[in-house]
Amino acid sequence: MQGVVFLGDRKVETRTFPDPTPGPGEVVLEIMASGMCGSDLKFYRSPAGEAMKAMGLGSAEPMIAGHEPCGIVVATGSGVHPQQARVGQRAMVHHYRGCGACPHCATGWAQLCVEGVAEVYGVTGHGAHARYMKCPASTIVGLRDELSFAAGAAIACGTGTAWGALQRMGAAGDQTIAVFGQGPVGLSATVLASALGARVIALDVSDERLARARELGASAVINPKTTDAVAAIKSLTRGLGAHASLDASSSPEARRQAVQCVRTWGKACFVGEGGDVVLDVSRDLLRRQVTLLGSWTFSTIGQKDCGDFVADRGIDIDRLFTHRWRLEQAGEAYRVFDTQTTGKGVFLN
Ligand SMILES: [Zn+2]
Ligand SMILES: [Zn+2]
Repeated sequence: MQGVVFLGDRKVETRTFPDPTPGPGEVVLEIMASGMCGSDLKFYRSPAGEAMKAMGLGSAEPMIAGHEPCGIVVATGSGVHPQQARVGQRAMVHHYRGCGACPHCATGWAQLCVEGVAEVYGVTGHGAHARYMKCPASTIVGLRDELSFAAGAAIACGTGTAWGALQRMGAAGDQTIAVFGQGPVGLSATVLASALGARVIALDVSDERLARARELGASAVINPKTTDAVAAIKSLTRGLGAHASLDASSSPEARRQAVQCVRTWGKACFVGEGGDVVLDVSRDLLRRQVTLLGSWTFSTIGQKDCGDFVADRGIDIDRLFTHRWRLEQAGEAYRVFDTQTTGKGVFLN
């Protein structure tokens, strides 16, 4: 089969790989949708050989890219219980492989494996930018019939990550939530928090992305390039600040504003990968009893919960996508995504 790999320096290449066959406890999916996630840009842009290091994951031969897998189970290995996975099942993949036995793996958090996560698909293990993909049956998450394969792909990282962060923040319908960055994760947070009933203030340096955020549920939008973000959020909240904020931009400035814009006793959550932030600890955090959270994606259970929430509320996740591609168009697809002005992209089979 053909698989897309990141070579670094904004180069992608299609290479030939053997079709995977499932070992004991494993399944093979035919990939129907493979999403493009903001974190893919780190591998795409980093210098050759540095792609894995960009995520602190060491270095190795390039693997098949794509960590938002969604498709149909086409083969199961020995020892796979039919309740875990069966041929013909529509499924998402929780995109990590751990030891499978430690307390974190056993509770669906393979990325927190005490042995160190063995594989992050699309980075240190073969991902979903290919026709087929292999994974442990225990990391299959069923895709409900109401959801498209593309929606499942979004939930398999970007949208699920927004869901996981909102859960950690205790997001609720009576809150005002500021979401910094309206890329695939931030825009998902805008959609999901709005569906929870929260009032969302969306921020981005791209007016195009802000227009999309408003269409998909944001009550107010702010472009920090032209407006003092913290002052604007305060003026929208009677001088108090937001109940909670989420940074999906990874910008050091946005992270600082995400902390400063919440009210006393407020919560700020970082989900954007990489980089750093400088805070005035006493003024920004201590003196206002601010809780600062980090959130890394979600568990298999959280992934299922996100899918259920989206399906039960009839949320149109497909509206996150502005670009649908074939695998052969990977070079162009990443060139467009790299502009960081578009909505989400997905490769469809
Ligand atoms: Zn483990
Ligand atoms: Zn991702």
